[in-house]
Amino acid sequence: MQDGFDAREIWPFQCLSCRHIWEAEYVVRHRGDGHGNETDLWLRNGVPVQPPWAESHCPDCDAFSIAVFPIGYLTRPQRSGVHAGGDADSLA
Ligand SMILES: [Zn+2]
Repeated sequence: MQDGFDAREIWPFQCLSCRHIWEAEYVVRHRGDGHGNETDLWLRNGVPVQPPWAESHCPDCDAFSIAVFPIGYLTRPQRSGVHAGGDADSLA
């Protein structure tokens, strides 16, 4: 029986004011309360913080108008290799 678990998530952000793009790493601690309810605790560097979509200001220009991207949004399109799905040419 598991009490809870931690997941590491990297959230991409972009400032709508200065176009600065950055990523922030969070640790999400999932916990059940034993009644079917689950609560998530967000941590950065071991310190509890607001969830990424709530804690939103640009580290560059301090603007509060920022966009939050889905996890992996910035890393996925940068993959320029052509090995997408590739040859399933293994053992017959
Ligand atoms: Zn900014």
